[in-house]
Amino acid sequence: PYDVLVIGGGPSGASAAIYAARKGIRTGIVAERFGGQILDTLGIENFISVKYTEGPKLAASLEEHVKEYNVDVMKAQRAKRLEKKELIEVELESGAVLKSKTVIISTGARWRNIGVPGEAEFKNKGVAYCPHCDGPLFAGKDVAVIGGGNSGVEAAIDLAGIAKHVTVIEYAPELKADSVLQDRLYSLPNVTVLKNAQTKEITGTDKVNGISYIDRESGETHHIELQGVFVQIGLVPNTDWLADTLERTRFGEIVVDSRGATSIPGVFAAGDCTNSPYKQIIISMGSGATAALGAFDYLIRN
Ligand code: FAD
Repeated sequence: PYDVLVIGGGPSGASAAIYAARKGIRTGIVAERFGGQILDTLGIENFISVKYTEGPKLAASLEEHVKEYNVDVMKAQRAKRLEKKELIEVELESGAVLKSKTVIISTGARWRNIGVPGEAEFKNKGVAYCPHCDGPLFAGKDVAVIGGGNSGVEAAIDLAGIAKHVTVIEYAPELKADSVLQDRLYSLPNVTVLKNAQTKEITGTDKVNGISYIDRESGETHHIELQGVFVQIGLVPNTDWLADTLERTRFGEIVVDSRGATSIPGVFAAGDCTNSPYKQIIISMGSGATAALGAFDYLIRN
């Protein structure tokens, strides 16, 4: 059996595997797509100490760094079930069952897509999902935020300090964000809020130049010229496969303590699949390191 088995090969999983392997213990990592979300990221400017890099390049460096160590790397494999017996068993979709004394779950998350024409086409060409990451690219420009929940309204407040103008597009008749956030939003001079507005299309040529929406009350279609669209309709953790085996929040995020421990002894979690409040590369790498050290501590005590 493994001492530490990491499920997920994004920044948090890679970091967990390296920290575990450096303790000289038997370490494995299972990843559906080694690199995770960063494979879909173009420019990265907030990975501290690296002024600029690109997602696929960082993903390749992660894999190269993991392979410096004695780690069993199992790529293109999906975990589908976890069960604690004497050891912890992880069943893969291939049917194989891996056994380990500790497991670190780092299966990440995915941004929910709005699914309108132009979204996929202009991803990284004006369509963005992460205001902390891509906000500064839109300094002095006009942008829209799709979604009026907490994340959308937080994004709009954040972007209003950088962009020239922000339009919030909410499908429902009311914003769903907390009232303190709404008050802050409405106090800003360069924000327009459209409610009852259904996004129809993100338009552009080589990059985004506007957005069309349907006023759900009148049925009329309107078009706004702008340079950026932030889709903020939810980040979904990749934790369905765990069902009720361990404690998750109502959003499906795995609940962890300050050492990355979950509700199952010996099972740890890290990164975007957990209830960590902020989802960033540098944060997920830190939590991967924490979970690996937590798992090592657990091993020497049990
Ligand atoms: P992920 O990166 O999501 O990795 C999850 C891993 O688990 C993957 O290997 C996946 O294949 C695997 N996996 C999932 N389910 C299973 C399963 N059942 N079995 C086996 N493997 C599984 N952050 C920044 O700090 N700066 C940025 O500029 C930035 N830009 C971004 C741009 C975009 C378009 C996106 C989508 C995200 C961006 N982020 C950025 C956020 C950052 O990418 C994430 O916070 C980070 O990747 C989280 O790492 P993670 O390891 O927790 O999860």
